[in-house]
Amino acid sequence: MHQVTSDMGHRRRGMVREQLLPQGITDEGVLKVLGRVPRHLFVDHALQAQAYSANALPIGYGQTISQPISVARMTQALQVQDGHCVLEIGTGSGYQAAVLAEMGAEVYSVERIKPLYLAALDRLTRLRYFQVKLKLDDGTLGWPENGPYDRILITAGGPKVPEPLLRQLADPGILVMPLEENGTQRIVRIRRERTRWYKQDMGPARFVSLIGTYGSRG
Ligand code: SAH
Repeated sequence: MHQVTSDMGHRRRGMVREQLLPQGITDEGVLKVLGRVPRHLFVDHALQAQAYSANALPIGYGQTISQPISVARMTQALQVQDGHCVLEIGTGSGYQAAVLAEMGAEVYSVERIKPLYLAALDRLTRLRYFQVKLKLDDGTLGWPENGPYDRILITAGGPKVPEPLLRQLADPGILVMPLEENGTQRIVRIRRERTRWYKQDMGPARFVSLIGTYGSRG
């Protein structure tokens, strides 16, 4: 058991060194947190040996845990600070939520597929991520009761930024999501500052679809 754990630690440090650093992840906090969160415990037992490879991996129901580099890019783009209130749409395995929690955030995460929500709830509780709150719902509607949020992260690609989420973003605040245009996806960062909005392209992405009232049709 101890040997398995230290082997995973070794692979995790390899992931940081061979995937994240060469691909432009410079944020010390992001590098430290991805080097710490036990990604292998967020996938099925049979896939644990692949947990630190460069791939997205299946988590059931046609969904995936995103590639390490995608999680790192999204987290770096979000500029999370200690004490931030962060809303994530698309809990999936719960890995990204755990990363945000380790960045010092209070995390609210919404998932629309019940078995994934239940599995993430069980996993995050067992791993003692008590600063993460989960909800089963259409995340394109947000989670208005706990807003406004300093940061909002959507980990599924949609045709436009869901309007309810723009309303739940604090001022100042940052929202990051993959936007679909002409069949491809680009990560965009939307910054709200003194009632003004700024939009920035952060490069290509490949996420599963955001399905809901303000996303694509399921
Ligand atoms: N962040 C996840 C990976 C996301 S995969 C992780 O770290 O593992 C995208 C997830 O978004 C899937 O689980 C999918 O079911 C979910 N999703 C898609 N549309 C959604 C919506 N409208 N509301 C909530 N979750 C949604």
